[in-house]
Amino acid sequence: MKRHLIIGGGVAGCSLAWRLIQRGEKVRLIDNKKNKSSTIAAGMINPIVFRRVTKSWRVDEFLPEAISFYNDIEHAVGCKFFTPIKIRRFFASDQEKIYWNEKQKTTEYKSYLSPSESRQYQFSNPKNKWGSGIVKNAYRVDAKCFMKEIHQLLNLRGVLSYESFDDGQFNPCKMVYKNEIYDSVVFCCGSDQDEISYFKQVEIQHTKGQLLSINSFDMTEKETWNHKGFILPIGKKSFKVGATIERGVRDNNITKQGADNLTGVLEGVFSGKYEVSTQTSGIRPTVYDRRPVLGEHSEHKGLYIFNGLGTKGYLMAPLLAYEMMRFMLSGKPLHKEVELFRFYEKHQ
Ligand SMILES: Cc1cc2nc3c(=O)[nH]c(=O)nc-3n(C[C@H](O)[C@H](O)[C@H](O)COP(=O)(O)OP(=O)(O)OC[C@H]3O[C@@H](n4cnc5c(N)ncnc54)[C@H](O)[C@@H]3O)c2cc1C
Repeated sequence: MKRHLIIGGGVAGCSLAWRLIQRGEKVRLIDNKKNKSSTIAAGMINPIVFRRVTKSWRVDEFLPEAISFYNDIEHAVGCKFFTPIKIRRFFASDQEKIYWNEKQKTTEYKSYLSPSESRQYQFSNPKNKWGSGIVKNAYRVDAKCFMKEIHQLLNLRGVLSYESFDDGQFNPCKMVYKNEIYDSVVFCCGSDQDEISYFKQVEIQHTKGQLLSINSFDMTEKETWNHKGFILPIGKKSFKVGATIERGVRDNNITKQGADNLTGVLEGVFSGKYEVSTQTSGIRPTVYDRRPVLGEHSEHKGLYIFNGLGTKGYLMAPLLAYEMMRFMLSGKPLHKEVELFRFYEKHQ
């Protein structure tokens, strides 16, 4: 049994901690309670990238792992936070409708796309003239509930403590943190990675996202609607409307401009009555090539990074945590596109 220290209790750090615990490893997870992403996220798992109608990167591998991972955690905590959803995409152009109809017939896409429809729906914006289609095999993680429950679970097992990583107490040559020796130390700090003195080559960009919560008796609770953004039912006639994409913005404040953009998204697809209840904001940890970044430090053996989950953390974290664990425990190579070494090459 090896000893592992994980810094950062977002979906990345918690998924990795759980994978290691399931393998019988000894884990300590520390989190500074300044979460800016995993607790704020809408938690949608959408297998399709719209406009060109393509599958999300590695979705055929990520999705089954995500389903079994969230089901397992639900079982362990005795609480429901993971549900299948239907996403109705209102096409943005005739071209998108053509792509949709072509791909929908193929074996590769059949399990993700239903046939397109041309009719209007009650309270759908009549300006959307290209029709719509349903994405199948989509899910939602109630992110706030998931984070609360997994923290409680890890806390009860004596794994999690709330503190900030103290650089002065870490010796990376001896792998000693606060007088304890570890076999591995993994940084899962999301957009705050730039406050850590290791992995300085890795540029984790800050992509701010804002969400509105609304109440509406007119909007259907049976479907998530998508067109330039989404309206996601979260129960009791409440919905999340999202999300803005504000690249390179480091502050986490809600803004009037954010609210205006989201109202535009909402009214672009929905013509019914609604009331805004709250506005929230977070920071996605993103990477220039839109791929996560996983790997071991070039000088300090046993020092790792698991970051860059971008806009799809809830889809990717379960499988990536498994692959990270295998890499740490048995050296099995990581997927080529997530490798940390692309940053070293970039800087040479
Ligand atoms: C508005 C918005 C909507 C989103 N919607 C979706 C969605 O629908 N579907 C989806 O899949 N993804 C969505 N995302 C993206 C998703 O939230 C991220 O991909 C994911 O949460 C990143 O997880 P993480 O664990 O890497 O980072 P984080 O969640 O940021 O976690 C990092 C953790 O590290 C801790 N930490 C940092 N520094 C230290 C330190 N020095 N010491 C101790 N602890 C430290 C922080 O407190 C934090 O808890 C959304 C994000 C935003 C902002």
